[in-house]
Amino acid sequence: MRQGIKDTNRMELIFCNQPENERIGRTMAAVFATVLNPTLEELSDFKTAVSEAVTNAIIHAYPGAEGDINMVLERKGNEITVTISDHGIGMENVEKFMEPLFTTLPSEERSGMGFTFMEAFSDHLEVKSEPGKGTCVCLMKKMGGK
Ligand code: ATP
Ligand code: MG
Repeated sequence: MRQGIKDTNRMELIFCNQPENERIGRTMAAVFATVLNPTLEELSDFKTAVSEAVTNAIIHAYPGAEGDINMVLERKGNEITVTISDHGIGMENVEKFMEPLFTTLPSEERSGMGFTFMEAFSDHLEVKSEPGKGTCVCLMKKMGGK
C-alpha cells in the first residue's frame, strides 16, 4: 500500500567552521526543503537566509580558532525551520548587532547586512546569544503552500 508523505521531518548536521561548509550547509538546507515543491524564488530566498546565518557562524563565532556549528532542519506542514547554533564568542547586545550596517569587521569588507537579509528573506527570525557562550539563530520559512 502506498503511504502518503509524512507531514514532518527532522535532520541535524554538525560541521566545523571551515569556509567551504557554508556552501554545503546551504545546499543541504535547500535539498531538505525541496519536498515542499518551493518556487525558485522561495528556494533562492531561503538559501540566502541560511547562507547568511551559516557564514556568520563560520566567520564570527570562533575568531582564529576551530569550532563546531550545529544545523537542525525541521519541516512541519509547509514550514521549514533552520536552527544554526555555535558555542563561540556570542554577542553582548543582539538588537544592536542586528541593526542594518552594523558590523564588527568593517576592515574585512563586511557590509553588516547579514541579519537584515535573514529577516527579509525568511518569515520569522529569532536570535539568542550570550557573550562567551554562543549564538543560536532560528529562521522559519513557509514554502510551496497554496
Ligand atoms: P555581512 O553579513 O554583511 O557580510 P556582518 O557579518 O558583519 O557582515 P551581520 O551578519 O549583520 O553583518 O552580523 C553583524 C555582527 O554580528 C557581526 O559583525 C558580528 O560581530 C556579529 N555576529 C553575527 N553572527 C555572530 C555569531 N554567530 N557569533 C558571534 N558574533 C556574531
Ligand atoms: Mg554576516
